[in-house]
Amino acid sequence: MATMRVVQVSRPNGPFEIVERPLPEPAAGSVRIRVQACGICHSDSFTKEGAFPGIQYPRVPGHEVAGVIDAVGPGTAGWQAGQRVGVGWNGGYCGHCDHCRRGEFFACVTGQVTGITYDGGYAEYLIAPASAVALMPADLPPVEAAPLMCAGLTTFNALRNSGARPGDVVAVLGLGGLGHLGVQYAAKMGFHTVGIARGKDKEPLARQLGASVYIDSQAHDPAAELLELGGAKVILATATSGEAMSAVQGGLAVNGTLLIVGAAPSMQVSPLWLLAGCRSIKGWYSGTSIDSQDTLAFSARTGVRSMNETFPLERVSEAYDRMMSGSARFRVVLTIGR
Ligand SMILES: [Zn+2]
Ligand SMILES: [Zn+2]
Repeated sequence: MATMRVVQVSRPNGPFEIVERPLPEPAAGSVRIRVQACGICHSDSFTKEGAFPGIQYPRVPGHEVAGVIDAVGPGTAGWQAGQRVGVGWNGGYCGHCDHCRRGEFFACVTGQVTGITYDGGYAEYLIAPASAVALMPADLPPVEAAPLMCAGLTTFNALRNSGARPGDVVAVLGLGGLGHLGVQYAAKMGFHTVGIARGKDKEPLARQLGASVYIDSQAHDPAAELLELGGAKVILATATSGEAMSAVQGGLAVNGTLLIVGAAPSMQVSPLWLLAGCRSIKGWYSGTSIDSQDTLAFSARTGVRSMNETFPLERVSEAYDRMMSGSARFRVVLTIGR
């Protein structure tokens, strides 16, 4: 019998266990993917720590998957073995609930999440619904594609739907796993790109990534600095500090938007400032498989790349700890293959 190795978590806060399982067959409407690389995202802690409501164990984490379709379930239209593909956080959608019928596929009532509601990419193979699959460009290596399936998708899709136009001032708050991609996308999209982070030492990196202005939020008031540029049409908040978000909102231009992709628990809001300038604060969900596909294609074409540290699947615990420590530069990616 054919088998595969997967990394599973058997209980909340349990260790990663490398186990052999029978190779699963894809059911109707799904595909089997031979995984080549899988990014480790902070949200994998939902699986590791059991923080996601209703999660069932054992579970294989991982929603930054890059690989090759290896088998296609009966009657699954549009995909074939041998195609290079990725799978992200959105684990597919039903196509017939009210949200799907309105085109809001990300809000599908089935709520499928890769690596949380079904087994994800810390594995040699995974089964994914066809609606969760994104085509990967031929010239994008799996290790480079994987982190773009979540961190890249989130920042790219937020920015392209932000309402900012080429030439507008767009600031990216935070220069970590999300932010270092956000700055690159903002610059490639033609925005007047501003990087905001703590400390003078991050300036060379921000400029190398394409920021034309850098604001050290420790040394300067970031809101005042943004207003000197005319105010930001969009501030993409990738940091997970509500305090940092609160400190930049005063830098929004009239009609500007603070676009939040960093999961801070709370922040302070200035209602008078919002209403006086028709400013808004908005959250952004990452995206669905077609958004991932657009992200990969744009990145391949424009040279946007994640900076990664790679580990073989066998060193998953070390790799996960490295990501959780916050000191990885900037994404951590598992490489997979016998
Ligand atoms: Zn993620
Ligand atoms: Zn649906």
